[in-house]
Amino acid sequence: MADFLTTARVVIIGGGVVGTSTLYHLAKAGWKDCVLLEKNELTAGSTWHAAGNVPNFAGSWAVMNMQRYSAEMYRTLGEDVDYPMNYHVTGSIRLGHSRERMQEFERVASMGQYQGLQMDICTPEELKEIHPFIETHDLAGGLWDPLDGDIDPAQLTQALAKGAREAGGRIERFCPTTGIDRDGDEWIVKTDKGDIRCEFVVNCAGYYAQRVGEMFKPFGGRTVPMVVMSHQYFLTEPIAELEAWTKENGRKVPLLRDVDTSYYLRQDKNGLNLGPYERNCKAHWVTPDDPMPEDFSFQLYPDDLERLEYYIEDAMARLPLLGTAGVGRNINGPIPYAPDGLPMIGPMPGVKNAFEGHSFTFGIAQGGGAGKVLSEWIMHGETEMDMWAVDPRRYTDYTDHDHCLAKALETYGHEYAMHFPHHTWPAGRNKKLSPIHDKLAAQGAQFGAYNGWERANWFAKDGDDTSEEATQTWDREGPWTVRVKEECEAVRDGAGVLELSGFSRFKISGPGADEWLRGQVTGALPKIGRAGLVYFSDSRGRILTEMSVAREEADRFILITAATAQWHDSELLQARLPADGSLTFEDWTTRMSTLIVTGPKSRDFLSGLTEADLTLPWLSMQETEVAGRWAALVRLSFAGELGWEIHAESADIPAIYDAVTGAGAKPFGMYALNSLRIEKGYRTWKGDLSTDYSMFEGGLDRFVKLDKPQDFTGKAALLAEKQQGIKKRFVTMIVEAGDQDAPYMSTVWHNGEVVGETTSGDWGYRIGKSVALGTVRAELAEPGTELEINIFGKMCRAVVQPDQPLWDPENARIRA
Ligand SMILES: Cc1cc2nc3c(=O)[nH]c(=O)nc-3n(C[C@H](O)[C@H](O)[C@H](O)COP(=O)(O)OP(=O)(O)OC[C@H]3O[C@@H](n4cnc5c(N)ncnc54)[C@H](O)[C@@H]3O)c2cc1C
Repeated sequence: MADFLTTARVVIIGGGVVGTSTLYHLAKAGWKDCVLLEKNELTAGSTWHAAGNVPNFAGSWAVMNMQRYSAEMYRTLGEDVDYPMNYHVTGSIRLGHSRERMQEFERVASMGQYQGLQMDICTPEELKEIHPFIETHDLAGGLWDPLDGDIDPAQLTQALAKGAREAGGRIERFCPTTGIDRDGDEWIVKTDKGDIRCEFVVNCAGYYAQRVGEMFKPFGGRTVPMVVMSHQYFLTEPIAELEAWTKENGRKVPLLRDVDTSYYLRQDKNGLNLGPYERNCKAHWVTPDDPMPEDFSFQLYPDDLERLEYYIEDAMARLPLLGTAGVGRNINGPIPYAPDGLPMIGPMPGVKNAFEGHSFTFGIAQGGGAGKVLSEWIMHGETEMDMWAVDPRRYTDYTDHDHCLAKALETYGHEYAMHFPHHTWPAGRNKKLSPIHDKLAAQGAQFGAYNGWERANWFAKDGDDTSEEATQTWDREGPWTVRVKEECEAVRDGAGVLELSGFSRFKISGPGADEWLRGQVTGALPKIGRAGLVYFSDSRGRILTEMSVAREEADRFILITAATAQWHDSELLQARLPADGSLTFEDWTTRMSTLIVTGPKSRDFLSGLTEADLTLPWLSMQETEVAGRWAALVRLSFAGELGWEIHAESADIPAIYDAVTGAGAKPFGMYALNSLRIEKGYRTWKGDLSTDYSMFEGGLDRFVKLDKPQDFTGKAALLAEKQQGIKKRFVTMIVEAGDQDAPYMSTVWHNGEVVGETTSGDWGYRIGKSVALGTVRAELAEPGTELEINIFGKMCRAVVQPDQPLWDPENARIRA
């Protein structure tokens, strides 16, 4: 007890693979005074997991990167730390039963290729050559990943622990964290062995993360949005035929994932291991009569074989060998699920100097990369790759228990499902309804959730197919197409109205607000009574966020940003406020809402509803009344037409909406807005705008003022980049696309080489063409350059366009 440490730089709570990997990365980077507290033995959950590098295809480039890093790291880890491990690179196949699944495989293979992973599309015959025991007659094909495999999680954790200790990290086993306190800028982490003072704390408590998260509530923390599900797999007795094959070939058969039926099946010693993600899945510890035990380490839930029956039968038809085997044992263990099934890695929302890395459903496969990412957050406050897909701040206050439970059940039961672009998942919805929700629904709105807010995606008419089945396609064409076209045309020829509920809205005011904000953003600020766009960059000059700023007075600003950016941007601003408290920060997100009224007739339609001066120019703002209610009118339009944003108190939105539609504005939805904005080259956050790109790479040169006196974050890096030459450039491309437009992260090719990637793509109904935005090598950004984009496996000709909007290049319509 006497030698128990009293201070540390970082305390990591939880010694599973993720916590241990984080300690390993910190220690390796020279952060030696870091300590990991584990309430038990170092566990890694148990000893039954596979690790691989194929992601769960949730469209997450970040997760794919993290898994690729893990797989590479594990390959040499045993040697690096002199701790040999059972790591079998068996390769894996995913089975495709449909055209859509094969298209998904094509897309993943292309993304993989960009990351240096060679994944191959296979015919059913080729699948049979790769896996000698499977039936393929009913398959469309498959995806072969030669680098997938399985690893012993306990050995992996021990290897990471050995490496961490040798590099200076400290591990305290049988040392539960019992509480947290704060003393000034320091954390006090409480344990039965004594208190530890430290600068940073990290919650890596696995499926206990919600409980550990409670300790942070007095310091601004929230209830961690997660649910514990039961995941089971079943092991067979040894199978003589499999043993013989393994002996003869000197290797195991490849891992098999039937993603449509929803199970994985791999060789375990000389038997088989079948793990389904069942539709009829089960959550644990979610009701008051089933409380979470103090400790569940090394324990399992009772077998629930009934749930597995369907999958066992299906797998026996696929791999008849399975039916020849005797039943071994069933493993039914706890597995944490965040609402979208992706982990939470990054800053702990609302709590300074605290981080989290938990809720992993594939923690063994991702642990290596997760430790790297988490250590970067702790050491540098930013990460090498954009990690928004797993950032804990992607969830805000709508994730109550009911939501988390509904989403966890949905996500687990669809672990391998395809995420089609026009499909919205039905569970856990209606968390935040705008005051005109019922009106929109009555007008046929088909909703999507944006930071919990229900917004209209498109408006269906009587007889339109609004079924979930109709959305199960990667194609552009669907029941929505004709309506989205009509909505775009209404905005082009008349005027449309769209409610953007949940726009994140912050007010910053006080003496010196002007000078302070100027020192934060990369460019200039608008004059009083004007609005504009501002950007925040990180220390490497990369795009952290974009905000619309409206200037009410010399030292009073309204900052408006994406709905999903609410916690991210609120924290960014608050963290940078002057310490002397001279500025006031207010979050007005729920108090107000926004209607976009846009199109050549919007002035005519509005003129009967307001006394405002509608001749004021583009980017002007004025306080006025619309339909007898107070409103701020800001003249700008993300749709790229004459238009205004009407900002008003939420309670007044219904009256204003009725007046605007009564005057002739036609409701339009988010799908139309996306099409309209892409024709103008307007960017969206975390698609086109992310920390994967510098301000210059993102084509935002005109928003960077290197000659201003303020030393904004990222200025030095941007100066250096300018001197050294910008390597990548943002371009707009017209694509000879087939039935699908280019999704996010489609690879861009030139002369048989990958030269860039798309950040978004859509059909432009005003120009009648498919458009893609993206970045390519700088020398290929010249207008007229011919490139190719791999869209679901099809190489489509793409031509780089001049650096101006495709629709209304002179911006005459917005300035009319
Ligand atoms: C049946 C089954 C099969 C699976 N198969 C795979 C697979 O094939 N591939 C794969 O990648 N993943 C698989 N997983 C998921 C994988 O096990 C988890 O994602 C992974 O173990 C999570 O690691 P972790 O470090 O985040 O959490 P954990 O391993 O849960 O570690 C958290 C640690 O925190 C400790 N702790 C909690 N509270 C405290 C406290 N107050 N103080 C100190 N310590 C504390 C716990 O004791 C624990 O050791 C499977 C899971 C199950 C149940």
